[in-house]
Amino acid sequence: MMSATASLDELIADFEELEEPIERLAHLEEIGRNLTPMPENLRTEENRVLGCQSMVWLVAKQRGSKPPILEFQAYSDAPIVRGEIAVLLAAYSGKTPQEILDFPIEELIARLKLRSFLTPLRSNGLYSMVKRIQALAAERASKSKVQSPTPKVRSQESGVSGQKSEVSTQKSEAGGDEVEQVGLLSAALRDDFPILSTVLEDGQPLVYFDNAASAQRPKRVIASIVEAYQHYYSNVHRGGHALAVESTTRYEKARETIRHLLNARSNDEVLFTAGATAAINLVARSWGDTNCRKGDEILLTQMEHHSNIVPWQQLAERTGCTIKWLPLTDGYELDLDALDGLLSERTKLVAFTAISNVLGTINPVKMIVEKAHAAGAKVLVDAAQHVPHETTDVQAWDADFVALSGHKLMGPSGVGVLYGRRELLEAMPPFLGGGSMIKTVTLDGFTPADLPYKFEAGTPMIVPAIGLGVATEYLLGIGLARIQAHELALTRCAHELLAEIPGVRILGPAPEKKGGIVSFVVDGIHADDVSRVLDLKGIAVRAGHHCAMPLHKRYGVDASCRASFYLYNTLEEVERLATALGQAKKVFQRE
Ligand code: PMP
Repeated sequence: MMSATASLDELIADFEELEEPIERLAHLEEIGRNLTPMPENLRTEENRVLGCQSMVWLVAKQRGSKPPILEFQAYSDAPIVRGEIAVLLAAYSGKTPQEILDFPIEELIARLKLRSFLTPLRSNGLYSMVKRIQALAAERASKSKVQSPTPKVRSQESGVSGQKSEVSTQKSEAGGDEVEQVGLLSAALRDDFPILSTVLEDGQPLVYFDNAASAQRPKRVIASIVEAYQHYYSNVHRGGHALAVESTTRYEKARETIRHLLNARSNDEVLFTAGATAAINLVARSWGDTNCRKGDEILLTQMEHHSNIVPWQQLAERTGCTIKWLPLTDGYELDLDALDGLLSERTKLVAFTAISNVLGTINPVKMIVEKAHAAGAKVLVDAAQHVPHETTDVQAWDADFVALSGHKLMGPSGVGVLYGRRELLEAMPPFLGGGSMIKTVTLDGFTPADLPYKFEAGTPMIVPAIGLGVATEYLLGIGLARIQAHELALTRCAHELLAEIPGVRILGPAPEKKGGIVSFVVDGIHADDVSRVLDLKGIAVRAGHHCAMPLHKRYGVDASCRASFYLYNTLEEVERLATALGQAKKVFQRE
């Protein structure tokens, strides 16, 4: 049954004779061409290996039982993947489950120098097949009571209680060089998100790529909302009864969790708001109205979301201060060479996004903060697209204000956070007046409450804040570094696949310089039409200006499509996007 053309030793010897990566690639394709095709009846959904760019099917057959010997058969529609299969068959077929689990696959990959010519996408596919083989071996090992050690490509505890999550490869040593970590999280995570199993009307499974607009919620966040309303809901910071105490404790626990997420010095610096927009408006109204006047300048960038533009334009209307703009390069980054020339003693505030919600560009926050502070300006960082995806440390940034939205980090909508440096918040007047934000009220006036309540007038968004705390625990449990690595793998895959479609232009820098956001335009087809075809295929992307009109104008387009990824998205979904995009092109080119 073994379909490889050569023994493992012959295969290694053949590869070692080849100097150039291109020769090794050609050789891999050649051995793939000789792979025995798999009978059609075995090419079933059940036998499919997901996570490969192409269609791949893999089965194991057992010979004998003491110990059993496993023979694998696999096939793919892509020659290069067939080559990978030939290598894996040579490595694994004819071995016992224990030998398979013990097999040093990383050493083999290093000896064949597969990494020197396989794209990350193809590497991911290779590891998906390895994982399937190891899983089949582990299953047979346990059946035949052979003790199964941890596989070489293994699962890891996510750190979230009761929840397992996997990365697809481990860091390993290859001839002294560290092998790149592919770093995909397990698709098993998706089980935490009920909405992801939605099948749309025409039978299309949902692919949710609109995460930059709003993410989805895991079960535990949904459960925390139900639990609050069913078991302990009450107003906070008012009553002394049992429910009031419980609600207040949970609400303040959420603040503490978010303080930890942001590495703020104190809970007093973490203010609950209605979202990032509300947080920025709070600063513009309270700090801006107090500190800005005619002759002063606010420095923004051309890549801002309207939420970080309009409140400053309104401030300019109220106070007479003016707005300056940091331009963007043709490479979709901030033109940092222009920064020094724009900063002066007139600059009161620099407000900019940590990650562009359209381009995905990751901005050098620390460096900009340093320069702004050196010019005597304060800094507001719009971290709405940063906090859910990358580690955020407000102390390391040394930012004065940081705004974020809860719904983008798997929390409920209607809640966000403003981090503010204590000295500034203490000096600022309250923005909204009402209950809770006062110490005393007389007929002649009021004295404001201490931080953070000074800025939380009225009944706050109690349950959303509690839900956001739970979402934050979930996020931290999985780990932002792992989420970042996962999104990078998806973004690389998207860039690779979209680059192969003629007429598709990605708005944004290389994957390594950006978060998991891939905005694109398609020559001759309006973004709305593209998104409609994608929608018919079950793929949710956003089309339009994404609340960033000046940015679109800068790059000469009215609208773009945006696919934005999160921890639960998969390579297979990215492949579906590329396939559907190819179909969208065909549909409209025929017209
Ligand atoms: N800033 C950025 C960078 C954003 O992406 C968004 C949401 N799209 C916002 C601000 C506004 O967030 P919200 O609508 O939650 O207030």
